[in-house]
Amino acid sequence: MTDPVAAGTVHQVTSLSNPQVKNLRALQMKKHRDETGLFIGEGLKLVTDALEEHWPVDTICYAGAARDQERVLRAAASVKARGGTVLEVTEAILGKITKRENPQMVVGVFRQKLMPLDKVTLAANDVWVALEGVKDPGNLGTVIRTVDSVGARGVILVGDTCDPFSFETVRATMGSLFHVPLVRASVEAFLGFAARSPARLVGTHLSATHDYRTLASSEPTILLMGNEQSGLPPRLAEACDVRAKIPMAGRADSLNLAIATGIMLYELRRDVLTV
Ligand code: SAM
Repeated sequence: MTDPVAAGTVHQVTSLSNPQVKNLRALQMKKHRDETGLFIGEGLKLVTDALEEHWPVDTICYAGAARDQERVLRAAASVKARGGTVLEVTEAILGKITKRENPQMVVGVFRQKLMPLDKVTLAANDVWVALEGVKDPGNLGTVIRTVDSVGARGVILVGDTCDPFSFETVRATMGSLFHVPLVRASVEAFLGFAARSPARLVGTHLSATHDYRTLASSEPTILLMGNEQSGLPPRLAEACDVRAKIPMAGRADSLNLAIATGIMLYELRRDVLTV
């Protein structure tokens, strides 16, 4: 393995006021992520996942203390070979970039990628999740990770949703962000797509009378989940072919969005998942 440092292809940065460091720190802000089309993924596992998926990469930063690790060098060499920048930085810089006291030793800067809605197709056994107005980055990341785990096809972000490329969401996906296609759509565009699609639209609603345990089927399915506070708006709920409920005992009003999505997905994928 060629040592990228020895090969002279690494920029060593020790100052917090270095302009490259300032740019990377600014990626904590959505505005800067939107303007640059970039986002940060933390940790060697996540960076390796992204590189294995040939996700477009801009920069890799690693702590000097990690420069002897073979996997780090391999990742750095791979970024360099794809035309990216390799930065060897201090742990203090990594802490500032990621706003963490104990930062990961490696972070990657990647290009944001969304799939256009008109590229979404559904065949037998396919499930896509549509999230209307999801606001909690942890919920969004957990849903993306669960979609990956059950082999569902992807996630459609409907209406006004939180940023899938925020630090919190990317962390919560545990690398699944790089395996699960994401789509953004307005409510109108989504409703048009759902009406044209051969898939059934399964909505989840607390006032539904259809038990979710009857839903497993090879029929292509779009599973529609509502916002954390207000649930599915009437217009979307009425557009569903089926509205289903997960029964609850006890005094909780509802389940957490990500938990409810997980339960629904395991039912919808029941017949194709094996241990
Ligand atoms: N107060 C909201 C309401 O009335 O719908 C609660 C929203 S809940 C926290 C967020 C989303 O999780 C819901 O829109 C629905 O998609 C799903 N969800 C939560 N509990 C559910 C249940 N018992 N059955 C079906 N879906 C559920």
